[in-house]
Amino acid sequence: MKDFSEFNDRYQSDLDGCSFETLAVRGGQVRTPECEHGEPIFATSSYVFNSAAEAAARFAGESEGNVYSRYTNPTVRTFEDRLAALEGGEACAATSSGMAAIYAVAISQLKSGDHLLCSASVFGSTIKLFESYLRKFGVDIEYVDLVDLDDWKSKIRDNTKMLFLESPSNPLNEVADIRALSKIAKAAGALLVVDNCFCTPAIQQPLSLGADLVVHSATKYIDGQGRCMGGAVVGPEEQVEKVVGVLRSAGPTMSPFNAWVFLKGLETLKLRMKAHSDNAMALAQWLDAHPKVKTVNYCGLPQHAGHKLATEQQSMYGGVLSFEVVGGQEEAWKVVDATRMISITANLGDTKTTITHPGTTTHGRLAEEERKKAGISLALLRVAVGLENIDDIRRDLARGLDAL
Ligand SMILES: *Cc1c(COP(=O)(O)O)cnc(C)c1O
Repeated sequence: MKDFSEFNDRYQSDLDGCSFETLAVRGGQVRTPECEHGEPIFATSSYVFNSAAEAAARFAGESEGNVYSRYTNPTVRTFEDRLAALEGGEACAATSSGMAAIYAVAISQLKSGDHLLCSASVFGSTIKLFESYLRKFGVDIEYVDLVDLDDWKSKIRDNTKMLFLESPSNPLNEVADIRALSKIAKAAGALLVVDNCFCTPAIQQPLSLGADLVVHSATKYIDGQGRCMGGAVVGPEEQVEKVVGVLRSAGPTMSPFNAWVFLKGLETLKLRMKAHSDNAMALAQWLDAHPKVKTVNYCGLPQHAGHKLATEQQSMYGGVLSFEVVGGQEEAWKVVDATRMISITANLGDTKTTITHPGTTTHGRLAEEERKKAGISLALLRVAVGLENIDDIRRDLARGLDAL
């Protein structure tokens, strides 16, 4: 019989060198006979100490252990350890949402007078956070064309402290050269931060490509089933410690219940990302051949400008694509409104396929000029391909497309 207490001492080091699939199921696990199949949810706000001396040592940071769940929680810790293992990072800090992760990274790493270079095609709320709040505290922010290395280089200044991007981008699926950008960041003495929400570590591990920090919205594919809000920051101990400092003081930590849901999500992450990618590829090929479709933006298609780079950096092409219908907003809306199964929502990373018209939703507040510059035409539709049968997804889209 296995003696679990003895087992735990060497268990995580036994996992060193294990593959992604194994770490996704076993990483961070604390083994007891009771929790071998279900990690416990530690629904507790606080913890007790053996003695006054122990309490003092814990508060002074001289002894390891839990103090208060805004600082650490065993269920959350298991999630952090598992995600760190999957991203190939030293440490991870879990947060209450993806935006809390981005907020904590920005606040912990930047100060008044610093310059932040950000890809122009990042998540809308990220730009809102930077513009409305970071700028207020004296951080200067400039936007860059994600795929134009010369643009990044030419905008570096003496006070540039951070480069921030997502790859592939939403909704055009443009692919950043993460290795080249990490060299540019290093030469400038700046941190390269990659929002890896669209790929997840099952597809892309930015730290191995030279990124300094990875941020996540766990709300999307890590949960993958539309249930919980959460986020995370992964990277070297030294940087993550700074992020943890902000989380402890400001409080946007992950709840133990959500951590438990995300742990279960990680166990099936690779299988799901493979299924999302397979469905997206099949849909992209079908759309590409459809007479009422003008262009398809999916980095899995050989003619896509980012295909070669995606093939080098990613093990799969992911679940999100966009396409332009022949016509304009009226035709695009007709396709959306003709769907009966596909969900009309701007969300992504769910088992359910979703469709959105970026020009009037996620990118609706852009002035026409800006929207055109960003490559978002009113004929563009974005689909986050789910796990339904591909024939049914195609049939639902065909209803509108065939009638155009
Ligand atoms: C959704 C999303 C976020 C924000 O995450 P929340 O969990 O909604 O706060 C950040 N980045 C990307 C790429 C996203 O899709």
